[in-house]
Amino acid sequence: MIAPDLCLAQPAHALLEALPARHTRLGALDIRRALPRSARRMVGPWCFLDRYGPITFREGQPMDLAPHPHIGLQTVSFLLEGEVLHRDSLGSEALLRAGGLNLMTAGHGIAHSEDTPMRNSGRLSGLQLWIALPENARQGAPAFEHHPTLPIRTFPNGEMTVLLGEGSPATTFSPILGADVTVRGALELPLDRSFEHALLVTEGTATLEGQPLVPDVLYYLGTGRDSLALDGTARFFLLGGAPFGEQILMWWNFVARTQEEIAAAAEDWARGDRFGLVRGYDGRPMPAPPLQGRVRPPAAS
Ligand code: MN
Repeated sequence: MIAPDLCLAQPAHALLEALPARHTRLGALDIRRALPRSARRMVGPWCFLDRYGPITFREGQPMDLAPHPHIGLQTVSFLLEGEVLHRDSLGSEALLRAGGLNLMTAGHGIAHSEDTPMRNSGRLSGLQLWIALPENARQGAPAFEHHPTLPIRTFPNGEMTVLLGEGSPATTFSPILGADVTVRGALELPLDRSFEHALLVTEGTATLEGQPLVPDVLYYLGTGRDSLALDGTARFFLLGGAPFGEQILMWWNFVARTQEEIAAAAEDWARGDRFGLVRGYDGRPMPAPPLQGRVRPPAAS
C-alpha cells in the first residue's frame, strides 16, 4: 500500500531532480545537509543526510558531538577517511574507521556522543544519515551495532559496498538500501524498481544518463528504475527504500509522529530521564534548543 499523500510514488516513475545541499556548521565542522530539504523530506525511510569533509587537521577534534538523545530513528555513521569514536548510554564504545558502519537504533530512546579520537590520521571525510523507524519498531528497545567490514557486490567497472539492505548484516526495519558505490568507466547498476532512490557523489566526477553529477547535490531518482547508467571515475552514496508511507515529525534529534511525543522527549532529556548516561565522554551533554510553538509537519509533496 502506498499512502496517497506521497504523490511521487503514484504512478511509479523515474525522475532526475537535482537538490543542492544546504551549508551549515556543526561545531568546527562544515556540513552540507542534503536531507531534509524543503523540496524533498525523505527518500524511502531516509530522513537525514549530512556530508562533511574531506578535511586535513593537525590538532583538536573537528568532530566533537557531546552526548545527545535520539528517538524513533536509526543513525548511520560512515567514513570515507579518518576516525570517529562512538559512545552511547548502553555502554557501547566503538571506533569507526573508513569503510565500516556504526548503526544505532534509537527506538524509544538512547543517547550518544561522537568525536574525533586523540590518536587519529589527521583526515576526516564522512556521512551521517538517519533512517525513520516505522510504527511497529519506533518504540522498541535501543541497540547499537558496529560492522567493521561489509559485503561488496562487484560489477563490470564498479563495485558496491552494501551498508544496509540485501546481503548486509545490519539490522533494518523497512525495505531499504544504503550503499557506497565506486564507478570506474561505464557502469550499469541494477536497482529495485519498487524503491525510491537518490545519490550523492562523494569523490571524483561522473555522469548519469549523460548528465554531469556535481558534488554536494542530492540527485533524487524517483521510483520505477531497473538500473542506473553511470560513467566516470567516482564514488557516491546510494540511498533507497520503499516509499515510507508514514508522516513523520522531526525536531532536533527526534523523529516522532506527534508534537506531544517530541515535547515529552525534550522534557525527559532536560530532566535526565529515559535516555541514560554516556560514560567516558569528556564534557557536558548537549542541551536541547528551546521548543517554541508547534513543530511543523513536513510539506506534503
Ligand atoms: Mn546523533
